[in-house]
Amino acid sequence: MSLAPWHAEPWQSLLARLRTGSVPHALLLAGPSGLGKREFADALARSLLCTSRADDGSACGACKSCVLVSAGSHPDLIHISILEDKTQISVDQIRALSERLALSTQYGGWRVALISPADEMNLNASNALLKTLEEPSTGSVIVLLSDQPSRLPATIRSRCQRVDFRLPARTDALAWLRDQGVTDPAAALDLSDGNPGRALEWSRANGLELRADCANDLRALSQGRGNLLEIANRWTKNEPERRLWFAATLAREQLRAALISESGPFTLTAGADLTKLAEWFDQANRSRDWLRGPVRSELMMLELLISWRALAPAP
Ligand SMILES: [Zn+2]
Repeated sequence: MSLAPWHAEPWQSLLARLRTGSVPHALLLAGPSGLGKREFADALARSLLCTSRADDGSACGACKSCVLVSAGSHPDLIHISILEDKTQISVDQIRALSERLALSTQYGGWRVALISPADEMNLNASNALLKTLEEPSTGSVIVLLSDQPSRLPATIRSRCQRVDFRLPARTDALAWLRDQGVTDPAAALDLSDGNPGRALEWSRANGLELRADCANDLRALSQGRGNLLEIANRWTKNEPERRLWFAATLAREQLRAALISESGPFTLTAGADLTKLAEWFDQANRSRDWLRGPVRSELMMLELLISWRALAPAP
């Protein structure tokens, strides 16, 4: 994904600050995944490091800096993310970053650090980063990327210039999806709640089939059919994140339909408890968040499906 149309506004405003020499020391790129925060951060890093930037602010792609960035070996570009065998960003990683930022720049330009996902820093790491943000070194930009910025300490958020990524207008999203070669952009966008990046990902990875599969499982359970253990097992082992997303959106669709006396994807209208259905929607979303943590996913999935089955009206 190159820079998308909905990136134009934040891009222009950062570019203006670059021209006047007032680039913030710390940026927080915040918003749901699928809106291209990563691509935006990469483009920004390239642009800051490029020695012959174009008028529109984009990197030239040919100077020594650009070549080094493309090769992943620019000494003034530092990536911090969760290490392979860990679940969070550690304090050692942040300390090493601070030490590097305290050294002088290798190429006389900017030093750029990208921290992603910034909301997955442990407490000590956050505290260490806060110290660095309080005493910024000249010529360095720290870019934090976060899908869930509310999980970041307020002290960190307040020290960053925030750039919010929001769902673009439907027409922009549809046009962009068409440009990406998606054959049925409207269906893909509906499937992903208006999030174009997710729509693209899911249209490439059989999102429609997977959603239908989830709907079938939930329908079977609510009709007293289906093997609970087998379904929980399958959902845990195969694309749990996407399944939980689809499950939650299906429940919401059912809720909306029931409120206007339509049948919805599960025809639960008759006798189903709508408050419980709304609670189940929350439970499915919470479960999705918990997939990232140390919770035992299979048990969690089983509990979720058991409460789904309990939603069905008595026959
Ligand atoms: Zn360049």
